[in-house]
Amino acid sequence: MTRFIFITGGVVSSLGKGLASAALGALLQARGFKVRLRKLDPYLNVDPGTMSPFQHGEVYVTDDGAETDLDLGHYERFTGVASRQSDNVTAGRIYSTVIARERHGDYLGATVQVIPHVTDAIKEFITADCEDADFLLCEIGGTVGDIESLPFLEAIRQMGNEVGRERAMYVHLTLVPYIATAGELKTKPTQHSVKELLSVGIQPDGLLCRSDREIPYAERRKIAQFCNVREEAVIQALDVDTIYQVPISYHEQGFDELVCRHFGLDQGRQPDLSRWIEIVERVRSPEGEVKIGVVGKYTHLQDSYKSLSEALVHGGISNNVRVNLDWIEAEIFETEGAVQKLDDVNGILVPGGFGERGTEGKIAAVKFAREHKVPYFGICFGMQMAVIEVARNLAGISGAGSTEFGATEKPVVGLLTEWMRGDELERRNAEDNLGGTMRLGAYECHLAPDSRVAGIYDTPVISERHRHRYEVNINYQEDLESAGLMFSGLSPDKELPEIVELRDHPWFIGVQFHPELRSKPFDPHPLFSSFIEAAVNKSRLV
Ligand code: GLN
Repeated sequence: MTRFIFITGGVVSSLGKGLASAALGALLQARGFKVRLRKLDPYLNVDPGTMSPFQHGEVYVTDDGAETDLDLGHYERFTGVASRQSDNVTAGRIYSTVIARERHGDYLGATVQVIPHVTDAIKEFITADCEDADFLLCEIGGTVGDIESLPFLEAIRQMGNEVGRERAMYVHLTLVPYIATAGELKTKPTQHSVKELLSVGIQPDGLLCRSDREIPYAERRKIAQFCNVREEAVIQALDVDTIYQVPISYHEQGFDELVCRHFGLDQGRQPDLSRWIEIVERVRSPEGEVKIGVVGKYTHLQDSYKSLSEALVHGGISNNVRVNLDWIEAEIFETEGAVQKLDDVNGILVPGGFGERGTEGKIAAVKFAREHKVPYFGICFGMQMAVIEVARNLAGISGAGSTEFGATEKPVVGLLTEWMRGDELERRNAEDNLGGTMRLGAYECHLAPDSRVAGIYDTPVISERHRHRYEVNINYQEDLESAGLMFSGLSPDKELPEIVELRDHPWFIGVQFHPELRSKPFDPHPLFSSFIEAAVNKSRLV
């Protein structure tokens, strides 16, 4: 029997509702329960795939090829449960489903309304495909009081009655700010936020109060009284030095106890938090540090590279070092001599990206890494840039470019219009809609037996997640391999280059997929562990 925990947020956005949900998921898992996490996003885009990283941050891709909210990345990193298409829905998708049904005549002439038609579609989504879970944690995006979130709040309110309050719990995340001039923590924003929630008929069962300092008992009691919850249902969510401490802190605050009590479950049992204790210990007391230069385009907005920065932390965890990231805008390397700035880094990483701006700077960074034997990790766009660099400067293909930036005489990277997914042929053309038409999701890749990556993965066949429209052109394989760039990972039909590596270099690997999406703090991705290890070795040489 699946139980539902609905997580809403109030006062302000960016309080870390996704992280809070993920950490609660991990905590329930540590008590032996099976969990699934799901996110409802109130905006009207059908999915975040077409949104700019400046607007939305990272687009997280699932194995089954869904482009989803970055919070799903937190869910996977904390629980290890692979997210699916069915774990993220937007108001846009809900409305388009309802409108398609109306056009199809499914409503048999009824007037189509938000209640019940839209709310029914939301409830269908919430309850689908989760039979295997003891708990479904369902996060509602946005902040209570937003006009767009109303149908979602209404749907979860109805669910409380339909499944029974003993199978549904409402948790509300708020902010208790410290006002320096008054020297006080303020409970009023929380009171207002809960009032807002009550106005749509939802009485929270637990309040998760974000604060930068300890909330004294008197204030917690006040919150409990004004918000109509028990005192122990006011949980402090204090700022922590590493996000992986959050499950531990929640336990110390009695959050799992509260949840178990709500559902009448085994309260006496203690969760096994050893995994989190060890991770936090390693993050807090590393034996050394390395510096990685990340050369990208959205570097001032680190949410655009959320999974990437976490995967690098994980690489640090497996090598017992702190990984310091130097985020560098690629465009600055387009000035003569500017790449010398990379002199003090122990590894260079060019992450995924779209569009021409900054590409010559990225190519300059690749060249620097290749010539100075600095460990280089190219991810997706970063692999394409590496291939162009090697084509131009080692293989003598001077006009090498990507058709992503317009017609080019030497399309070393080109638009892909047909490819195999398992036994099925997928087709696209340049005029297709932009939404959902990239090569998306998990694909198999075969590794060359004598390659570096085969050693790193320690298995001949891997599966990794993709999100891109362009591909390295297999027709250049021979030229590039003779120049020293090995095509060490290929699609099963050998048509699509998935991994390249330079033989004559301490660590130079480009991958067409996004390994960062699969890395977890308790199971760091082997490529990230190996890259950081190479950076550690490099740091010892200096
Ligand atoms: N812009 C490139 C493509 O579409 C790379 C995409 C990416 O890095 N995710 O192929």
